[in-house]
Amino acid sequence: MAANKNKNQSSMALHKVIMVGSGGVGKSALTLQFMYDEFVEDYEPTKADSYRKKVVLDGDEFQIDILDTAGQEDYAAIRDNYFRSGEGFLLVFSITEYESFTATAELREQILRVKAEEDKIPLLVVGNKSDLEERRQVPVEEARSKAEEWGVQYVETSAKTRANVDKVRQLA
Ligand code: GDP
Ligand code: MG
Repeated sequence: MAANKNKNQSSMALHKVIMVGSGGVGKSALTLQFMYDEFVEDYEPTKADSYRKKVVLDGDEFQIDILDTAGQEDYAAIRDNYFRSGEGFLLVFSITEYESFTATAELREQILRVKAEEDKIPLLVVGNKSDLEERRQVPVEEARSKAEEWGVQYVETSAKTRANVDKVRQLA
C-alpha cells in the first residue's frame, strides 16, 4: 500500500491487502490483531475471511480490506482470483518453521505471475512468531537478505505479544 501511495498520492480510497502464507504461520492471528487488537489463539484454520477497517495515516483517512486466505489457494483458479484482487500483499511465514519461509518464494512467484502487467506490487515479508525465539529456524539475516533481493521490507512480528504489529500496519 505504501508503494501505491507513493506512486499516486491521490489514490487513497480503498486498499485491498491479501494475507498470504503457509497454513499455521499466523495469518489469521495477525489479521485479528490488526482488526481488533487481540490475540485469538484458535482461529478456524480452514476459514478465509475478509475484513474492512478505516485507518488514518498522515492525516488521510482510508479503508483497508484485508483478505485472510486459508488454504483454498491450493486451487490455482481460486488463488489467482485472490491474488488478482489484491493491491498489497503480506507474505507471512513463521520464524519457527523453515519450510514456511521457503514457501514465500513460491507464493511470491505466483503473485508476480498473476499480476504480471503491474510494474510495482506492494509486498511486505513478515516473519511471525518472534516471541518463540528459542524455536527459531529462520535466521533474521537470511530473511532480511531475501527481502532485500526482492526489493521489499522485512519485519518480524508476534501476533501473540503484538510486537511490531503496528509497524506492519504503518509499512503496509
Ligand atoms: P494461519 O493458518 O496462518 O491463519 O495461522 P493461525 O493464525 O491460525 O495461527 C496458527 C497457530 O499459531 C495458532 O495456534 C495461533 O495461536 C499460533 N500463533 C499465531 N501467531 C502466533 C505468534 O505470533 N506467536 C505464537 N506463539 N503463536 C502464534
Ligand atoms: Mg487462518
